[in-house]
Amino acid sequence: MDLSRREFVASMSTLPVMPSLSPAKMLIIDAHVHAGHGTGITHESSTFLDPELTLARMADGGIDRSIIFPCDNYEYEKPNQEIAEYCHRYAPKFIGYAKHDPVTEKGRIAAMLKHEVNELGLRGLKLHVHPNREILDAVAELGIPIIYHPPKTVADFHMIARTYPQVNFIIAHLGNWSSEDPWEHVAAIDIARRYPNVYTEASGVQARTYLEMAAKEIPDKLMFGSDGPETDCRVELYKIRSLKLPPQQEAQVLGGNMMRILPKGTL
Ligand SMILES: [Zn+2]
Repeated sequence: MDLSRREFVASMSTLPVMPSLSPAKMLIIDAHVHAGHGTGITHESSTFLDPELTLARMADGGIDRSIIFPCDNYEYEKPNQEIAEYCHRYAPKFIGYAKHDPVTEKGRIAAMLKHEVNELGLRGLKLHVHPNREILDAVAELGIPIIYHPPKTVADFHMIARTYPQVNFIIAHLGNWSSEDPWEHVAAIDIARRYPNVYTEASGVQARTYLEMAAKEIPDKLMFGSDGPETDCRVELYKIRSLKLPPQQEAQVLGGNMMRILPKGTL
């Protein structure tokens, strides 16, 4: 697909308009939480992540909703079902995203995702790698957001964001887990500013300078996220609160920005 500038700008006008909610009416939404069972047995991120631990911390920290998706697995049919069950059991605390692997599930993802969104009520997609066209076409049709962390460089987002302007992307970890390469944070801020359909999420950022930079430069594109339960959502929430943003901007970062891009009827 080769969009002319006019077509690109026209497609932007179909994006949802920011609701004029007062900060008090905006929910606090954790954009990045894992839950459920995995096939691994050596690390909690691939064995079991307890949704009740997340719920207890949410209650203690005053977090209204968490977006949950599976931990590492080889395939995701069952883990996605498990996420849907948690959303149902603990309603309305969780919003579920599916997870998929474009290699092990190649050729089956479009049908699986359709079922997971339309029948199971999942509301987005988490990936650990770059999406392929099979995934992006399905996501565009379903109107759901994608969250992922680019495996090599955030710059790879440029083509993807341009080619699929109708899909909302969330760059996890402000582009780089644990600030191992801080320049990737700068690249994530740049890409989020450049493309109306790109957002970024703040879990695991260690280098404070870049979190402050993102809050100052793209408060309408930054989202609170924890990567819990391995990381404590209460600590990640404090990292955002301690930025001391003006109330309206803080509310956008803590949940308002996510509320803009969740599919209609989610909340
Ligand atoms: Zn994660």
